[in-house]
Amino acid sequence: MLFRRLAEYFQQLESTTLRNKLTEILADLFKEAGKGEIGKLCYLLQGRVAPLYEAIEFGMGEKMVIRAIASGTGLETEAVLKIFKNKGDLGETVEEIKSAKSLPCRQAGVKRKAERKINIKEVYEILYKMAEAGGEGSQDGKIQYLGNLIKEVDPLSAKYIIKIAIAKLRLGFSDMTILDSLSWMIDGTKASRSQIEKAYNVRPDLGDISEVIKEKGIRGLGNITPEVGTPILMARAERMTSGRDIIEKIGKCAIEPKYDGFRVQVHFSKSKFNPPAGGPIYKKKDENLHLFKEDERFIRLFSRNLEDVTKMYPDIVEGAKKQIKAKEAILEGEAIAYNPKTGVYLPFQETVQRKRKYNISEKAKEVPLRLFAFDILYLDGQNLLPLSYVKRREILENTIGKGETILIAREEIVSTPKELEEIFEESVKQGLEGVMAKKLEGVYRAGARDFNWIKYKKSYASKLADTIDAVVMGYDLGQGKRTGFGIGGFLIGLYDPKKEKFVTVSKIGTGLTDEEWKQLKLRTKNQKLRTKPKNYEVDNMMECDVWVEPKIVVEIRADEITRSPVHTAGRVMKPSKSGSAYDVEVPGFALRFPRLERFRGDKKPQDATTVSEIQRMYGMQYG
Ligand code: ATP
Repeated sequence: MLFRRLAEYFQQLESTTLRNKLTEILADLFKEAGKGEIGKLCYLLQGRVAPLYEAIEFGMGEKMVIRAIASGTGLETEAVLKIFKNKGDLGETVEEIKSAKSLPCRQAGVKRKAERKINIKEVYEILYKMAEAGGEGSQDGKIQYLGNLIKEVDPLSAKYIIKIAIAKLRLGFSDMTILDSLSWMIDGTKASRSQIEKAYNVRPDLGDISEVIKEKGIRGLGNITPEVGTPILMARAERMTSGRDIIEKIGKCAIEPKYDGFRVQVHFSKSKFNPPAGGPIYKKKDENLHLFKEDERFIRLFSRNLEDVTKMYPDIVEGAKKQIKAKEAILEGEAIAYNPKTGVYLPFQETVQRKRKYNISEKAKEVPLRLFAFDILYLDGQNLLPLSYVKRREILENTIGKGETILIAREEIVSTPKELEEIFEESVKQGLEGVMAKKLEGVYRAGARDFNWIKYKKSYASKLADTIDAVVMGYDLGQGKRTGFGIGGFLIGLYDPKKEKFVTVSKIGTGLTDEEWKQLKLRTKNQKLRTKPKNYEVDNMMECDVWVEPKIVVEIRADEITRSPVHTAGRVMKPSKSGSAYDVEVPGFALRFPRLERFRGDKKPQDATTVSEIQRMYGMQYG
């Protein structure tokens, strides 16, 4: 398939916001793509060259891309900059220059040069090399790759190649729309979507999944099982507010402490090709690279939002090397920092201090981590996801050898509400967050939130059941004292997977410390947008001075969930009688006295509390 053809699809996709239409266009594109192409396409559609969980980025800023455009078009960088200032978008800038349309181009003597027909595989390979290039002199190398590519392609292709390189390709859909489109590709319906999603939850690599479907059809997905190096979407817990409710729901169950740290999925192999830590894992597929050496171990640590955090936690890596007794394993646990002198576990705020990019090893000695392992998902070729909790737990206990870093989560089996409440009270007294109740025969449902796991937290006794994780969508410029921070109030929202949109729940203007305002300003600095994104549903009353990318997740505590016509979470509109506008049929959910609890760098925007969870929490307040 020619890249030019893909660029035409990009153009079509950019011009629609309707989800069904997006799905159909993508399905047409997937039909047209061949084996060996569709996987690469799935990455390119997201402006990437690898699945989202791989830490591989282009790392090119505006200045570098402008230099590449200059080198690819023969224009001076000053002239490129001038056109860019006018257009405001580097993709459009290169398109204009390449088609030699505008006056500055003609003045600069730009002519359309001969172009080569270039297919998507070739473009992909070059983009991959660009992303992979690191170290000294890599900037010049990247600019050269990009410049040469721009030289050879037509204006429309150049536009999208540049948008990809500068990470500005925003087509307005998520992995979920791609899953729908893969189903649509097969038979023009969404009938296979749930089967595809099941495979995706175990192996969230759209490149892999789409190639399997292309080659073997839906039946091929049956062979998708956990693979060391590819994170599995983590299972989540439902909430309940009493021991009685829990026992009624799942009967006799296992109770584990709810440790307040951060979730880690450990991937371990003794026999896998071993790419350098932090490098792209894809190399495992290239037989000539990074051959396994006898004394090496392949270890990858993934966070809850599938970020590769291996480099940040060398102490867990060392612990895993020493304590995992298997050829290959994938297990999960909660990492928590402790004071090595007193052995006391530290509060979450101090645990997160360990997430850092610099001085990692000193900090690891000062504030070491322990990992409380609570599940195992894969062992030596055996997929453990369909096994019961009891069986998995037994395997886990047999897989972890003695040592100080990895400990097995404490567990007690209870059959009555009284026993459960006693353990809960005991845990709270010890300063834990509460307990996790686990259904004895429950399987591990990758990516799902269900009653196989139930969280019962002490905060449920307070006014509002739990904190809410929300996404910062925009902010107003500061007034009065806060002019100094440049932020007066910020709008927060949730992700609504049904609408594939971010919907609002609150605008927060008070309750932050000076340091928190500063942090917020800093975190939003590189996320500013020129216009409101098309996947934001915001009432006119809640418009913001500045819109930001939906990337910053904040944990919010509030006194109560209320209903409000000016917030769009859960809001339903109906055409007004006059027919020209809409009226609120059901008001949205809003937060009363919201305040910032902490920044949640470990969560993706899609992991924010969902509208249906808010709805349930709203119900619990009065339950
Ligand atoms: P969620 O993961 O449910 O979306 P969250 O990240 O805000 O929400 P909580 O609601 O506090 O976290 O509870 C679930 C989390 O509790 C798990 O993701 C895990 O990190 C942590 N946890 C602590 N102890 C355990 C345990 N024994 N079993 C499972 N999870 C545990």
